[in-house]
Amino acid sequence: MQFESIILPGIDPKRPLIIAGPCSAETEEQVITTARELAANEVKIFRAGVWKPRTKPGGFEGVGSSALKWLMQAKKETGMYMATEVATEKHVYEALKYGIDILWIGARTTANPFAVQEIADTLKGVDIPILIKNPINPDVELWVGAIERLYNAGIKRLGVIHRGFSTADKTVYRNAPQWHIPIELKRRFPTLPVLSDPSHIGGRRDSIQTLSQQAMDLNYFGLIIESHCNPDKAWSDEAQQITPKELKEILQALIIRDTVQSTEDLSVLRSQIDELDNKLLELLSKRMRVSREIGRYKLEHDMPVLQTQRYDEILNNRASLGEQMDMSASFVKKVLEAIHSESVRQQIVIMNNSKKQQAQ
Ligand code: PEP
Ligand code: MN
Repeated sequence: MQFESIILPGIDPKRPLIIAGPCSAETEEQVITTARELAANEVKIFRAGVWKPRTKPGGFEGVGSSALKWLMQAKKETGMYMATEVATEKHVYEALKYGIDILWIGARTTANPFAVQEIADTLKGVDIPILIKNPINPDVELWVGAIERLYNAGIKRLGVIHRGFSTADKTVYRNAPQWHIPIELKRRFPTLPVLSDPSHIGGRRDSIQTLSQQAMDLNYFGLIIESHCNPDKAWSDEAQQITPKELKEILQALIIRDTVQSTEDLSVLRSQIDELDNKLLELLSKRMRVSREIGRYKLEHDMPVLQTQRYDEILNNRASLGEQMDMSASFVKKVLEAIHSESVRQQIVIMNNSKKQQAQ
């Protein structure tokens, strides 16, 4: 796919691209005050939710179309570009009618192919940047599907926003980052700009700095950060919003590492990594050979493939050994789980082949 630039005239093409503004547009005064303060801190793109998807009814669901007037007033006063979330055909029409410059598709909407298709159909022939947040569930294909639906509708100025994923278990994050998913997306679409939304990943003010730095170190192109003139009084997401002044401090503290050429030293280290990866693969294939032998033994002795007690032992012993070797126990467990599931698969193939042979 050939994506086109999401950079609008007058915006610095160097990363990080910054989008900032309140979670929701609440009042004309809140929009204008926040926009003025952000503009004074060199922010060029303002975000505000006009239609807010809420888990339960009865909460603040956004002001609706009338807030678009305030955004356009803020644009006139500050010269900032305006961005808002759309979830339906009507939202798209309204936002475009008022002259919103950038639209984003929210996480709940990306998870719904009907809604994404409706938005894509409505946007046919429109040439503005569209940003697609990751779906709430950790499914890279659903994210890719949304990108394809918009691309197929002729929208080439596309970007994505990583805002983290819902999990059943409580974690330190509001939405678990699961970095491997945006990394996989970057691998598939190397030219697609990826923005991070540290506000919705962390869900709290004090994690924005670290998450933003992490995004920059993973070579993300930009950041979308919730900023409000009076965060404690915000009508939605108050725990994660920061003042324009705090935003400025966070951005000033960011270290942008942009040296792209590979140095002599790095290429030596990289060839060591290549060699170690080859050795790892050889070792894994040896381990699979032994595991297949075990499979044949189990077959001859009518033993089941899965022996949970042995598996538990392996996981726990190796996890603590891994910790002694400076790796996290959860990483070692994940690797072993993947290896074990391939072992089980190979042993099941052996069992099935023997069944087929018996049947013949
Ligand atoms: C938002 O950006 O305010 C928002 C609702 O985000 P998400 O779709 O990531 O939940
Ligand atoms: Mn929000």
